[in-house]
Amino acid sequence: MTIDTSLLIGTAFEPGTEAPEPVLNPRTGALIVDVPEASLAQVDRAVASARTAFTHWSRTTPGERATALLKIADRIEAEAADFAKLEALNCGKPINLALNDEIPAIVDCWRFFAGAVRNMHGAIAGEYLAGFTSMVRRDAVGVVASIAPWNYPLMMMAWKLCPAIAGGNTVVFKPSEQTPLTAIKLARIMADILPEGVANVVTGRGQTVGSYLINHPGIDMISITGDVATGKKVMEAAQKSVKRTHLELGGKAPVIVFDDADLGAVVEGLQAFGYYNAGQDCTAACRIYAGKKIYDRLVADLTSAVSTIRLGNADDTTNDIGPLISQRQRDRVASFVNRARELKHIEVTTGGEAMDQGFYYRPTVIAGARQEDEIVRREVFGPVVSITPFDDADQAIGWANDSDYGLASSIWTRDVGRAMSTAAQMRYGCTWINTHFMLCNEMPHGGLKQSGYGKDMSSYALEDYTVVRHIMLAHG
Ligand code: NAD
Repeated sequence: MTIDTSLLIGTAFEPGTEAPEPVLNPRTGALIVDVPEASLAQVDRAVASARTAFTHWSRTTPGERATALLKIADRIEAEAADFAKLEALNCGKPINLALNDEIPAIVDCWRFFAGAVRNMHGAIAGEYLAGFTSMVRRDAVGVVASIAPWNYPLMMMAWKLCPAIAGGNTVVFKPSEQTPLTAIKLARIMADILPEGVANVVTGRGQTVGSYLINHPGIDMISITGDVATGKKVMEAAQKSVKRTHLELGGKAPVIVFDDADLGAVVEGLQAFGYYNAGQDCTAACRIYAGKKIYDRLVADLTSAVSTIRLGNADDTTNDIGPLISQRQRDRVASFVNRARELKHIEVTTGGEAMDQGFYYRPTVIAGARQEDEIVRREVFGPVVSITPFDDADQAIGWANDSDYGLASSIWTRDVGRAMSTAAQMRYGCTWINTHFMLCNEMPHGGLKQSGYGKDMSSYALEDYTVVRHIMLAHG
């Protein structure tokens, strides 16, 4: 397979002129391709091209923008197998999941925003001062710097680009330096369909290209999905010229399992949603609080279920999860587990070791964890789930909310009243009841606290990527 490594600046595809970044296959650690980094002059040109395009694109009709988004969706769908293959290669994702879970959700995201932008509602026009008519508009923000992480590269690109472009903005997009390949492929499609400069793609590392981009005077808004520390750098950069920001940062999702929960459903849910994408998911069901009566059975049943998760098979169609993205990430996950197992009250009931192959780490269950333990408090971003017993609902809710993060959470119980009253007390952007992880493009996704702010997906995202303006007309 020949792999494209070009940047997209305006309509031009050109190689980055700075040092190459090795992009590795996480299944083996072998080099896939070197992707040269964009120079600062190339970033300048990408921003300039987006600025020029904004004048025209922001004045197109929602219908015109929707037509472009729908064409892009069709092209991604037509090339679904190639996109999935490339994403699976770059991220180590099982091919069936890349193809059957991710690509359809990505295509649907492009289609959703094509529809949503044609159906935006606002305040009614009226004469709030006698002799004057007031109306409210929602207009594009300007040029958006969009920066994505490595865990769902093409999906994060869709979550960022669809509402931005649908809303009339133009974009300079930077994929993660570790996973740029599907973004580069999508750039070819976008260049065929969108007018020059509406979407630009630059590759490179965070501390060089990313940092330059977020500090760029030609950028009006920064949208980033990444680590909390990176989000803070974005806020620092934004304050210099009061840029708008949209921050989707980390998570450490609590899962409250009450004694009356359907144990089979809980185990099935945690086996799937604690380990999906090898746990490299900011909503991963990783911090379990279990009632005292269900705790022992949950530990036993989850341990046996997790020990059957399939990974590292030569026949990739039989794998449930893949490796971690890098050696560094695998070492980080291993060090969290090693520090946890040094504590006397903790038992690693399955997993707890790296595999002798690529960047794989065995799916791990950590029983007996306590609220103050690092493994309960910090984001591991790997296939590691901790379980902590609780005494009563207030303690469980208190512990669940006692976190710097506030992205996602779930509650498992057969009692509808308890489910609703607990959900109402959760300080998380999302609370699932008797499920976890389920997302749809119509519903908002985003955090509270240090998980950031701003919504991805849904018409709330269109609001984030547009500004409210008041227009007043004097009658006389
Ligand atoms: P990261 O913050 O290291 O990198 C994210 C992106 O930011 C990359 O493209 C990187 O190059 C860029 N970047 C890094 N430093 C930068 C800087 N100084 N200036 C500008 N850009 C910079 O995060 P990661 O390791 O790629 O991704 C994992 C993190 O993302 C996890 O913490 C995870 O929880 C979070 N995440 C959150 C969500 C969400 O929806 N909230 C979704 C996926 C991932």
